[in-house]
Amino acid sequence: HNEEAAAKSAAAVADTGAPTIFDKIIAKEIPSDIVYEDENVLAFREINPQAPVHVLVIPKLRDGLTMLGNAEPRHVDVLGQLLHASKIVAEKEGILDGFRVVINNGVEACQSVYHLHLHVLGGRQLKWPPG
Ligand code: IMP
Repeated sequence: HNEEAAAKSAAAVADTGAPTIFDKIIAKEIPSDIVYEDENVLAFREINPQAPVHVLVIPKLRDGLTMLGNAEPRHVDVLGQLLHASKIVAEKEGILDGFRVVINNGVEACQSVYHLHLHVLGGRQLKWPPG
């Protein structure tokens, strides 16, 4: 129906490997509300939050990680760093007791930016299953 069609068209963007808006956020060419940053990882507030806390956690170096589905053995370290950074974000945001980490992979999962990112969501009662 309509909702499904809208969701599909919103996400009908495939992985081209082209640079994304996250490169500009990493380069600080466009502003973002940074929650956590270290050598390898950047975490900043989602522009269209789906919960009181909604932070995106990304690798500073994409290195082929447009999506989780492109993960290779060389990415294992940064994948671990992203999960650990998500925990730090949850701690900083005061939601360690209940939060969710989501990765949308590909068109069918409504991925819209092809630079791997973890959504950290919390600050309200989350529902399961997600929509
Ligand atoms: P995806 O849909 O899982 O690919 O998540 C990408 C997210 O990035 C979307 O929820 C967008 O709202 C978000 N987003 C896009 N541009 C920006 C920005 O400039 N700042 C913060 N979040 C953004």
